[in-house]
Amino acid sequence: MLNKLIDSDKIHKIKTYISKGERFVILSHEMPDGDAIGSSLGLYHYLMSFDKKSIKAIVPNAFPGFLKWLSGAIDIVVADQYPDFARQLIAEADVIFCLDFNGVKRVGKLASALVASNARKVLIDHHLEPEHFCRVEISFPEMCSTSELVFRMICALGDVDLIEKEAAECFYTGMMTDTGAFGYNSNNESIYVIISELLKKGIDKDEIYRKVYQVHSENRMRLMGYVLYEKMRVFPQKRSALFTLSRDELNRFKYKCGDTEGFVNLPLSINGIFFSAFLREERHFIKVSLRSLGDFPCNIFAVRFFNGGGHKNASGGEFYGTMEEAVKAFEKGLALFNPNNYEKS
Ligand code: 5GP
Ligand code: MN
Repeated sequence: MLNKLIDSDKIHKIKTYISKGERFVILSHEMPDGDAIGSSLGLYHYLMSFDKKSIKAIVPNAFPGFLKWLSGAIDIVVADQYPDFARQLIAEADVIFCLDFNGVKRVGKLASALVASNARKVLIDHHLEPEHFCRVEISFPEMCSTSELVFRMICALGDVDLIEKEAAECFYTGMMTDTGAFGYNSNNESIYVIISELLKKGIDKDEIYRKVYQVHSENRMRLMGYVLYEKMRVFPQKRSALFTLSRDELNRFKYKCGDTEGFVNLPLSINGIFFSAFLREERHFIKVSLRSLGDFPCNIFAVRFFNGGGHKNASGGEFYGTMEEAVKAFEKGLALFNPNNYEKS
């Protein structure tokens, strides 16, 4: 069941790339999340079972602290700390696995190095409408996570026995975080077949939950309280909510990468609200996170108003302008895309 999804020609090509290649890069997207890191490290552990000259996981910028316990996390090359090294690895790679992103823009400043590299490139991703920059594309938007796809790929390669507990923890983490701990996008029964396989590898799923979701700082909890009490604007007629955080506000709560992870979901627990937006001021742009319940396509909203994309119920983008302008763009979007016109399933 698990090894039937991916076309056997593609599996055959990947098998050849793995057996012939010596230098491997696993690359994921900017602002890496649990699925980006989980799928990358799961694949990293698998490739480490072969005797190769170099296997490196690279991300464009820092990832949240609650993912640092994953085995191999310490060896990830964070490109904005080591830009020359990251570019050199990409330039010299025989094979590059591009995980959890559908377009070169998503790797930020590494995009030019990725495009220029002569490596065999393999895309493994679950976002809609992938750009065609890889020789082999494994793209299944209906999958819950890239971690699920990488696990399935290894099964199809006939190597499920090479997956050990460390890799299994990484895949589970990716699947768990991309489904809000199996709270959305998680009705496909195959997910639970995979979890059962991962449990057989010795993972402690309850412990993983604690390590990811119950390790927050006091500052983060207080920032969450501030957002809910003072910042959240609710638009009941539009069944929507919005909150913003400026640099000054983030600094007040000693913001660290990952501290606002999950906040955008909070307004969706209000009865009748099924579209939520979070605008966070970054150094050069406003980072936009959108979430919806049911049919409302927040990815279309992200494309139209925030130079972004993503999934129907979880998307994001970047807005180049002031916070006031970003809020105006949101309000304009709400006027055009009334969430009331969509079914909340
Ligand atoms: P988050 O809100 O967690 O940052 O992102 C949720 C989802 O939105 C991601 O998994 C990704 O699919 C998509 N996304 C976030 N930011 C961007 C962006 O800047 N561009 C595009 N195309 N998609 C994004
Ligand atoms: Mn993902």
